[in-house]
Amino acid sequence: LAKHFLDRIQASGLNAFTHVDAALTLQQAAAADLRLANGDATALTGIPIAHKDIFVTRDWRSTAGSHMLENYTSPFDATVVEHFNKAGMVTLGKLNCDEFAMGSSNENSYFGPVKNPWDLTAVPGGSSGGSAAAIAARLAPAATATDTGGSIRQPASFCGVTGIKPTYGSVSRYGMIAFASSLDQGGPIAKTAEDCGMLLNAMTSFDPKDSTSIERAKEDFTRDLNKDLKGLRIGVPREFFGAGLAKDVEQAVRAALAEYEELGATLVDISLPKTELSIPVYYVIAPAEASSNLSRFDGVRYGHRAADYKDLNDMYRKSRAEGFGNEVKRRILVGAYVLSHGYYDAYYLQAQKIRRLIAQDFQAAFQQCDVIMGPVAPTVAWDLGDKADDPIANYLADIFTLSTSLAGLPGMSIPCGFGQGEKNAKRPVGLQLIGNYFEEAKLLNVAHQFQ
Ligand code: GLN
Repeated sequence: LAKHFLDRIQASGLNAFTHVDAALTLQQAAAADLRLANGDATALTGIPIAHKDIFVTRDWRSTAGSHMLENYTSPFDATVVEHFNKAGMVTLGKLNCDEFAMGSSNENSYFGPVKNPWDLTAVPGGSSGGSAAAIAARLAPAATATDTGGSIRQPASFCGVTGIKPTYGSVSRYGMIAFASSLDQGGPIAKTAEDCGMLLNAMTSFDPKDSTSIERAKEDFTRDLNKDLKGLRIGVPREFFGAGLAKDVEQAVRAALAEYEELGATLVDISLPKTELSIPVYYVIAPAEASSNLSRFDGVRYGHRAADYKDLNDMYRKSRAEGFGNEVKRRILVGAYVLSHGYYDAYYLQAQKIRRLIAQDFQAAFQQCDVIMGPVAPTVAWDLGDKADDPIANYLADIFTLSTSLAGLPGMSIPCGFGQGEKNAKRPVGLQLIGNYFEEAKLLNVAHQFQ
């Protein structure tokens, strides 16, 4: 199995991987074979998996898609990687992503963009573009990803695969290279909800090494997959179907909602009034946290160090100037600005207050419905290069995924069709499913019934 996927990776030309080491993979595969032969296997033993290059690994390089960490190898495995290793999964390599997970098109990677397997001229989405493209092109049967403001759901949507961002605090952030710590959350991307459930079973844990990890009883996320959906109330937020939504995406999403009605669900008109504010709120809070998290990359302890410098400050300055790409620098500047004395109250504190209101809107909505559904993104995947020099256009495209992250809620993307017209007919549309806290099993059930 590992060999089969390694061959596909080599032949693919999608740039989905940043680092592959066939010898290492085959070594893990041999160990898995031994476990299988000894009757010591889990449901996942011997199944290949690839990790977003945000999770640190001892045996593979860990780059976060950055020149800063181009040659970095971690002395330890991320908790998530450790869990999959223990389960006997076989690592295929590391997956390309936007630099430090900042982006919506994978074009911010130092290692170059990933191509969308459905249409090689389209972006795969981001920041987990490598994860989604690898699943879509069958370069791996399972992948890890991370979602800070949509990075699991949006690339899953653009590549026609299934991804789930669990409740904040369910999956350990230990060894996940930090972008915005109050938002970052790991999760799986795979072909189906059922596969995602199995992966989530191995991925989720209380981890004392992550200060925001939540201590909860172990649960089986696949337990409800086959429940029927009779009586399910689906909240359809008005604000997700406004002027910015492309007609072809709207049609695919509405058709999916109609199918849910046939499965016994009812649609409830709901309102998430602060949806639009999630963009400015997120693009204040995420850069603020990023500016703090990324201060560790100073050229002293690890990462890129400039070759020539006059003194310590000059070394910091040059190492960071050379090591970081433009989008990362932009976020550090914005973040330092909104946290600075005099602007903190006006921007950062204000954003935190609105963040709370956004979370409250969801709680009010969940009084009326069991799950919320809508589009993942306003359009299908756009052309490579189209928005590469336009950060604002990228930020605006995050409109439907940011609020879930700000509230810490679980969110999912499942494929529900394609765009329309000569160009978009090959580009997938994703349906977004949002649940209340810790309702991953319910989301997976609702997704599985559709699939
Ligand atoms: N597109 C968003 C950003 O650029 C979200 C990224 C993410 O979820 N990691 O910040």
